[in-house]
Amino acid sequence: MSPLFAGATCQPQNGALGEQCTLGGFPEYSVNVTSVAQIQLAVNFARMRNIRLVVRNTGHDVLGRNTGKGALSLWTHHLDDSEVMDAYDSANGSYTGPAFKMGAGVLAHEMHEAAEKHGYTAVRGGLSPVSSLYGMAADQVLSVDIITPEDHFFTADDTQSINLFWAIRGGGAATWGVATSMTVRVHEKIAVGGYAWRGKPFMIPGMALRDFKKLVQPLLDEWEALSVDPKLEFFDEDNLYSAWKKHFPTVPVGGTTARTANRLLPRKNWVDGELLKKTIKTVRSVVEDGAFLVHYNINGPKPEGASENVVNPAWRDTMMFNIIGVVWDADATEEEIATGNEKLTGDLSQRLKDISPGAGAYNNEGDLMDLEWQVSFYSQKYDRLLAIKKNIDPRDLFWAPTAVGSEGWAIGNQENVPFISQDGRLCRVSV
Ligand SMILES: Cc1cc2nc3c(=O)[nH]c(=O)nc-3n(C[C@H](O)[C@H](O)[C@H](O)COP(=O)(O)OP(=O)(O)OC[C@H]3O[C@@H](n4cnc5c(N)ncnc54)[C@H](O)[C@@H]3O)c2cc1C
Repeated sequence: MSPLFAGATCQPQNGALGEQCTLGGFPEYSVNVTSVAQIQLAVNFARMRNIRLVVRNTGHDVLGRNTGKGALSLWTHHLDDSEVMDAYDSANGSYTGPAFKMGAGVLAHEMHEAAEKHGYTAVRGGLSPVSSLYGMAADQVLSVDIITPEDHFFTADDTQSINLFWAIRGGGAATWGVATSMTVRVHEKIAVGGYAWRGKPFMIPGMALRDFKKLVQPLLDEWEALSVDPKLEFFDEDNLYSAWKKHFPTVPVGGTTARTANRLLPRKNWVDGELLKKTIKTVRSVVEDGAFLVHYNINGPKPEGASENVVNPAWRDTMMFNIIGVVWDADATEEEIATGNEKLTGDLSQRLKDISPGAGAYNNEGDLMDLEWQVSFYSQKYDRLLAIKKNIDPRDLFWAPTAVGSEGWAIGNQENVPFISQDGRLCRVSV
């Protein structure tokens, strides 16, 4: 789990080396769940005893939504059954084709591996390298098995629990209950051509190397004219899993010295000449003023036949998914950390908002301190989401920062902190 939100106490492994650790914002107890009955028991226990409940899968969350001081934690990692179906009929008949049913604990690489083995391409995410071809991961979902906050276990799909099915596909983590498994579309196997530059890939899923080379030739020519040899390593894979395994860099899960924000910059920022100049100038200024930038030229079109869901509409029209972040030294003072974090939210992130009014941001890698998080992450669909939340979880058993309905509660001990940690009690602040 990211130590950033746990009050930056030392990590358990350091405790074993003699450091004095406190639990901080980590949960008090954790249940290694392997069955529906165990989850129901834990959900009921937490609800009836008024105990904070959190859910943790891989622990990769970058907003601290998987942990909480004094909480009971459900660890879903071992819900790892999976099934490959070559001919699946969706509940309302809108999809017939290959699908995977996966337990909530199945990992991204296991999904890719199974897809490769059975001759398919899987869309993991939120955002996946194949999203521009097939849409977001939430768009692939055909049904979800879920235990609700009131402990009911049922399947939500296009014909039953329709409101929840709409909300859960894009409507955020730690909100609707505990998902135990879901069934998702998978797609035909595709080639992936690309090159790696300094260990970082530029690749186009669905395009073989020969066509990829044609596409990038003008860029190669420009480099040659400038006598620049970028030492590219071209690759040609016949499936996504191999491309991902061999050419994607490994990324650290979380630390205590950086925080991110993002913006989905729309197509019109590239179409309108004046706006394009302003866009490039702004992105450049953000980097020159100290942020790091990670960007993807990926968007997420809605797949044909998929029912409406809550994927942020900004994904449908984005040209550049722009993640920015600030970093501070391990021995930075509280004031330095606060200054960097205020700059991220109030200045650098605001510059990107100013050049893309009406666009949005990706919650899973978003700015925890975004004051307009409801509209940034959930668009104009927020009010309907909130109504569904109040209906399915009237006691707010499921809570996390920036989750639907979270504005009614706040973590204590957060005076003058640069960003919300989970190292405090969760208290109601409004009904
Ligand atoms: C190194 C790294 C790489 C990343 N790469 C990508 C990427 O390529 N594309 C992308 O879209 N995102 C990416 N992310 C962001 C990622 O989508 C989020 O961190 C996501 O929240 C991870 O989900 P998880 O279930 O694995 O993690 P967790 O931290 O375990 O859970 C995330 C949230 O989901 C809730 N949750 C987990 N399981 C369940 C369940 N069964 N039922 C109900 N709620 C549940 C948790 O309570 C928590 O709020 C990356 C993050 C990291 C750290």
